[in-house]
Order: sequence, then structure tokens, then C-alpha cells
Amino acid sequence: MEYLPNIIFAVALIAGIGFFARNVKKLTRNIKLGKDVDVSDNKSQRWKNMARIALGQTKMVVRPVAGIMHVIVYVGFIIINIEVLEIILDGLLGTHRLFSPLGSVYDFLIGSFEVLALLVIVAVIVFWIRRNIIRIQRFIKPEMKGWPKTDGNMILYIEFVLMILFLTMNAADFQLQQLGAEHYHEAGAFPVSQFMVPLLDNISESSLILVERTAWWLHILGILAFLNYLYYSKHLHILLAFPNTYYGKVKPQGQFNNLESVTKEVKLMMDPDADPYAAPVEEDAAEPEKFGASDVMDLNWVQLLNAYTCTECGRCTSECPANQTGKKLSPRKIMMDTRDRLEEVGKIMDANNGEFVSDGKQLLNDYITPEELWACTTCNACVQACPVSIDPLSIIVEMRRYLVMEQSAAPTELNNMMSNIENNGAPWPYNQMDRLNWVNE
Ligand code: SF4
Ligand code: SF4
Repeated sequence: MEYLPNIIFAVALIAGIGFFARNVKKLTRNIKLGKDVDVSDNKSQRWKNMARIALGQTKMVVRPVAGIMHVIVYVGFIIINIEVLEIILDGLLGTHRLFSPLGSVYDFLIGSFEVLALLVIVAVIVFWIRRNIIRIQRFIKPEMKGWPKTDGNMILYIEFVLMILFLTMNAADFQLQQLGAEHYHEAGAFPVSQFMVPLLDNISESSLILVERTAWWLHILGILAFLNYLYYSKHLHILLAFPNTYYGKVKPQGQFNNLESVTKEVKLMMDPDADPYAAPVEEDAAEPEKFGASDVMDLNWVQLLNAYTCTECGRCTSECPANQTGKKLSPRKIMMDTRDRLEEVGKIMDANNGEFVSDGKQLLNDYITPEELWACTTCNACVQACPVSIDPLSIIVEMRRYLVMEQSAAPTELNNMMSNIENNGAPWPYNQMDRLNWVNE
């Protein structure tokens, strides 16, 4: 019986980490459904991007209020969780405040965790007000209705409750230390939770222990539950922002990923010395199985990683000129739809022993419509605005490529322009011989 709490703790820990590992496996499998892409170039630039954008949060602070609050929550949440290491070891070994022999260093750590916890609580309240009272435009767009809104609020509630539990645990512990309760030796500094102590006045020692133990258990079980909630939430970005910024685009932003076979074809058309009747050389014969993307498996794995990393912050959509002028396009929705479809494909695979069985649906039309795709001006504002290096434009371009090259389903204006280029060598409907007439005007 003496070791029962330790055993229960070990079981909860193994279950929590085991379930998380299972979800990570699923996540990796889904991302790997994407096509291969070479990201072995520019390693030093990639590391720099990760350090600057994910760790340094440089793109977050472009919008100072949200950015600084986010930095507080991020730093606070990560640092406070160092405390989790002590909690886990205490839980497994049956000790109490195992690191307290560190003396003044320990006092400093616990004191700073408390200050950070308070700042996190303040930031979380500000975030909640921005989402639910001020109702900032980017949080109330159509794609944010239902689960995305609930998810955004849930994360705030969970973080708030975890911080309150942490402070409650410390306040009860502090009071027990003052009372000289057994096992509660003097350790730690409590600059914030000491102000909660009056709430615990006139409570018996056994009730105080109950408060402290309850807060301790709920805090660690809450963290394990939150860890497993990540997979189902936009909050997955706290893990994926790092690989995503590493694998993000390092080429110039306007540079498109041209298809080699098409480039050769165009060069052949444009080269006056080329023999249009010459037999294709062997290497030219290989063409992609499919041009562009109509479903998630046609995208590359970095684009699928992008979809899982999206924080649904809407910075891309708020900068998008198409969205601003009332078009149906929202780059955030492009990412959310890609993730939703990928999850759907993953569930089908789960139900069929890892095999994908067509469900008659696809990303194109069932999630993203051609109207959205053709509204894009390819301006790159969304890519520039994204705080975690996501590239919604690359998905839009791949899907447009499919519409044009596989379905010949471009809008009439584009079809006219493309036939003009093919026939006249220019986008205008003039004879090739007249192309330079403007010089004489
Ligand atoms: S590239 Fe397209 S989706 Fe992105 S901001 Fe510009 S118009 Fe919007
Ligand atoms: S793509 Fe980037 S900017 Fe757009 S919602 Fe997702 S994380 Fe935010």
C-alpha cells in the first residue's frame, strides 16, 4: 500500500507517454504520405531559420501585442515545465521536492516559475478577451466556426487551469512548510502563491495536504492529458514549428517549382534551332504520373507538415489581398482543409489495416474549390506573414497545375492567354509579326 501512489503514477505516466507515442507514429505516417522532396540543401540557412523563427519567435513580434503575449506564454510554459521533471521524479520515487538540496538556486527557480505562471495567466486572459470579447476580425472568419473556435478557447482554459493548479499546489505547500508538517521541509520561494495563502487559513493540516496533493496530481495528469490533446489541436505547432521552420522554403519567395518535363517542352518551343520533329531523348521520356495535386497524396511531405503545423492564427488571411477584397479565398482555410483531408485519409487507413481505400472524395472540390484557387494573385503575402514558415501558395499552385494540366479547367481568360502564348508567342491576340509595332507609335 505504501507504494500504491508511485505505482498509480508510473501507470499514468506510461499510459500518457504511450498514447502520445502512438499519435506521433500516426502523425509521421500521415506526413510521409506526401511525395518526397529534396530538402538537403542550405543546411546552415535552415538551422538559422529554425533558431530565428521558431526559437526566437521573430515573426511573431511583428504584431507586438499578440507577439509579446505569445512569447510570454511560450517561454513561461516551457520553463515552468522544467518543474515537471521534478514532479515526475517525485512521483516515481515517492520523494517531495527532490531538487530542494539545490538551496538558493532552487528557491530562485521556483520563484521565477511562479512569476512566469502569473504572466502566463495574464497573457491567457488577454488572448481570451481578444478572441471572445473584442472579436478580432481574423478570429471570426467563416473557417473559424465550430471546432477551431472551441479548440482555440480550450487551449487557453487548459493553460489557465494548469497555472492555477501549480500556484495552488505551491500555496498549500508553503502553508504546510510554515506549520512544520511532516515531509514538508522548507524549500522554494513563493513570491506569487504566498498571496493565496490567506485563502487557506483556518484549514486543518490534513485538509491542506489534501489540497496540495490534489493540485499536484491534477497538475501532472493535466499536463499528460494536454500532451495527448496536442495531436487533435492546432496546438501541435508547439512541437512542429521547429521542423517546419527548418524545412521551410529557402529559395527566393517568388521562385516557382517548375516541372522539368514542361520546362524542356517550353524551351523546345522557344528555341528557333530546335527540331520539333526530333525523337525525344530517353531521359525526356519520363513524365510525372500526374501533373499537380488533386488530393493530399499528390502534395509533398513538407506541404503536409505545413498543414499539421498551422496555428490557425489567420495572419496569412488578414494579409491576403483576395480575402481582403471579399473573395472566397483564405490561405488559412487552405491549410486547415489540407490537414482535415489528411486526417480523413489517415482514419481510412486506420480502418483498413494501413491501406488507403478510396472514399470517392479528394482535396479538390470536396474541400477546396477552384473558385478559391483562382482567386489567388500569387502575391506571397501569406507566406511572408506566416510566423512558422508555412507556404499556402505552394499548395494553391499545385492544385491549379492539376486543374490546368490534367483537366484543362482554367478560367476562360487564362485559356485565351495560354493559346495566345502558344500561337503568337505573346499573351495578346496579335500576329507575331506585329509584336514590335508599338515601337513606331
Ligand atoms: S499568395 Fe494568394 S493566398 Fe497568399 S496572400 Fe497572395 S493572394 Fe492570398
Ligand atoms: S498558415 Fe501560418 S499565418 Fe496562416 S493561419 Fe497557419 S500559421 Fe497562421
